[in-house]
Amino acid sequence: MTAGSRATASWRVLNLPLGLDEPESALHQRAAERAGVAPEAIRSLSIGHKALDARRRGGDQSLRFVVHVDLHLDADFEATGGGRFRQALRSGRVVARSAPAELGFENPHPSLRGARVAVIGAGPAGLFAGLALARSGVEVDLIDRGPALTERSRALAHFLSTRSLDPEANLLYGEGGAGTYSDGKIYTRVDHPLEAPILAEWVACGAPAAIAYDARAHIGTDRLHRILPRMRAGMEALGVRFHWGVRLEELVIDSTGGSARVRGIRTSQGELPCQAAILALGHSARDTLESLAVQGVVLGSKPFQLGVRIEHPQRFIDGARFGDPALAQRLGAAYYSLTSKAGGGASAAHSFCMCPGGQIVASVNQPGLLCTNGMSNSRHSSPYANAALVTTLGAGETGPGVFAGVDYREALERRFFDEGGGDWTAPAQRADDFLAGRASAGLGSSSYKMGIRPGRIDALLPPRVRAALGRALAHFERQIPGYAGPEALLVGIESRSSGAIRMPRDDISRRAEGFENLYPVGEGAGYAGGIMSAAIDGARSAHALLENGIGHGTE
Ligand SMILES: Cc1cc2nc3c(=O)[nH]c(=O)nc-3n(C[C@H](O)[C@H](O)[C@H](O)COP(=O)(O)OP(=O)(O)OC[C@H]3O[C@@H](n4cnc5c(N)ncnc54)[C@H](O)[C@@H]3O)c2cc1C
Repeated sequence: MTAGSRATASWRVLNLPLGLDEPESALHQRAAERAGVAPEAIRSLSIGHKALDARRRGGDQSLRFVVHVDLHLDADFEATGGGRFRQALRSGRVVARSAPAELGFENPHPSLRGARVAVIGAGPAGLFAGLALARSGVEVDLIDRGPALTERSRALAHFLSTRSLDPEANLLYGEGGAGTYSDGKIYTRVDHPLEAPILAEWVACGAPAAIAYDARAHIGTDRLHRILPRMRAGMEALGVRFHWGVRLEELVIDSTGGSARVRGIRTSQGELPCQAAILALGHSARDTLESLAVQGVVLGSKPFQLGVRIEHPQRFIDGARFGDPALAQRLGAAYYSLTSKAGGGASAAHSFCMCPGGQIVASVNQPGLLCTNGMSNSRHSSPYANAALVTTLGAGETGPGVFAGVDYREALERRFFDEGGGDWTAPAQRADDFLAGRASAGLGSSSYKMGIRPGRIDALLPPRVRAALGRALAHFERQIPGYAGPEALLVGIESRSSGAIRMPRDDISRRAEGFENLYPVGEGAGYAGGIMSAAIDGARSAHALLENGIGHGTE
């Protein structure tokens, strides 16, 4: 159905059930009934959110979808459409939808005319900050210490075959940032108006349209590698200058007057002038953060997560979640998200970043340190399912000083690297052996291409982390029998699912403490924990910059 010439407004009808075999067209009538609206009154309708509900009901496991449907009705419908609609609104079955935001800004601050902004970091935060600025007519230099995609993939293939790591071209550094070799999960718990235009951007660059509403939307490494070059080409057409293999060394700061002002950036390839800078460094640029701290950029510590990857055969997870593993053919590889509360002297823990049909990867940028993470392709086609199993360590719990958390994390990464034999082989232990506190006599196979070898993960982890993971495994075993059984493999360490540093910034202007024109964004600044939240954070700070202008000196 298409919208007529009258102005429309949008409402969301929540929680409509849809059988696995029912066509989506059934939702039109169902949404109309739930909203108390005649079907003919609906100007247009789209799926806003669709999730598989795999909860057991009364011991029985009947699967279905739960769908939120967006209805476009005449703008005056709330006043004229009748009492049943108003009743649905009052009951909360229907809620008003705000119009999606735009990435570009219509009226940037006049001081930005002809201004140059340096964006440092080409991960999701930097890319979407750069895009929002460029769409608003601002000149952008986007620099990244890592290479563009093709060269980056070459460096990774070299690492896999030779075990020789390039500290500037790896799984964490280069075009697309840390998520370029990932599952590309892009669902988030934040409901922000910038989510829709960001998703639309990816769809325009080749992602499937369903990511706009699929509750478990993921892009997959293979598709990400087609999307990123298209996104770059679109940004270049807007005038963005990309500088690959260029590392920010320090800021050029003018400190006359009250607060500091960035006039340029000093890089591994020389100096670049700018009127404002966005720092989108990710969580693994310790060297840069140290040099920024020396220059007076304020840093603080924050809680971070620590644990292991847990890997199962995917068919086991499919059977556990769907009842029948064959259903994975129709519904896609099953996923899970599990939480264990604190108790019995142990902290809380949870599963995170689950990669159905994926592989465990060495998520590293420094020699001598081992850290694991997960990735998968769009079809989730590998026979393995892996997820992080982590607990949270509080800021300050690992010692005094801003870098105490990073030191702590690195010491453990070194311990795991050494225990693996010093060549990126990862220590692994069966989950049942971990719980029993004994070495694994034999290990099953793993997706981790650098190889695994038996290691006492229970002894390598700090006791507090070991206790939290032990309690969680016992709890998850009750929810999914076999979850902590002999088929489950713990591979470690997983120490970078979140950063340990925060760069304080003003809530409204989003400027770094003490600076007129410096904007810390994304995961490295402590304001994001995933691809979508980083992208939103980058775009929001670009909007703040577009509103603020470039500082008192030029206004
Ligand atoms: C293997 C893996 C799988 C993941 N899977 C998912 C997933 O499925 N879904 C999800 O939501 N999240 C996932 N994540 C997390 C997600 O990738 C990050 O949360 C996200 O990329 C953070 O975005 P960012 O832009 O803040 O930083 P990053 O993506 O880390 O980008 C930072 C960029 O800054 C550059 N940089 C650093 N220092 C300098 C410097 N001095 N000069 C110039 N450039 C510099 C780096 O080269 C890097 O490209 C995964 C992460 C990894 C490692």
